[in-house]
Amino acid sequence: MRTPIIAGNWKLNKTVDEALGLAKALKEQLNDLKNVEIIVAPPFTALAPLAEALKDSPILLAGQNCYPAEGAYTGEISPTLLRDVGCRAVIIGHSERRHLFAETDEFINQKIKAALAAGLRVIFCIGETLTERNENRTFEVLESQTRNGLSGLDSASMNRLTVAYEPVWAIGTGQTASNEQAQEAHHFIRELLGNLFDSSVAENTRILYGGSVKPENIDGLICQADIDGALVGGASLKAGDFIRIARFKQ
Ligand code: PEP
Repeated sequence: MRTPIIAGNWKLNKTVDEALGLAKALKEQLNDLKNVEIIVAPPFTALAPLAEALKDSPILLAGQNCYPAEGAYTGEISPTLLRDVGCRAVIIGHSERRHLFAETDEFINQKIKAALAAGLRVIFCIGETLTERNENRTFEVLESQTRNGLSGLDSASMNRLTVAYEPVWAIGTGQTASNEQAQEAHHFIRELLGNLFDSSVAENTRILYGGSVKPENIDGLICQADIDGALVGGASLKAGDFIRIARFKQ
């Protein structure tokens, strides 16, 4: 039985006051939620105040990115410092990092290893572009991103890793993958995890869907056999929308 995860990626939004206001609303209205893990990834500037504000709450904090080393790396943040400020997880390989900041699978793999070594959980994002989908290369892309991103990991470390399937054409566009398209990709990823690791990794790894998840489409997505929750961007910025998504109906 895989416990669903609903994670909010706030990206580069929210001042500290705004972040505290949103966190307070989530804490008040989601504290009674059972059998769903809630994760929020605010901008770095809001991590310390949110760690304090959420300390008696089951809502977990995540970083949006990290760098796989410490020392003379101006402007970067390490997994150790994310843990120190109260993060339990970190998002790695988001398509905005891959496409806007030219992050390669190899670099993403280094970050994943560094984050796991520092004791963080990882939300590892993969997904094809529209061109790749139109060229029937979706599975090929998902396979190479997964194979390279998870290279060198063992089955034991996979219990702290969650995969997020985020088709690039669905992120921030309002165009969600259909339930069937999402399920097909998730099923492929689960089988691939079985081939790369073993059947227990395939069975136990949570695979989240991300890409224009909203209150109107979460119930259909979460009913799919291989969809274990959602990574939510835009709709995680509004308390009402995120709360409705977290209170999905199965
Ligand atoms: C995301 O950025 O991870 C995301 C899924 O964004 P949105 O929900 O806005 O499409």
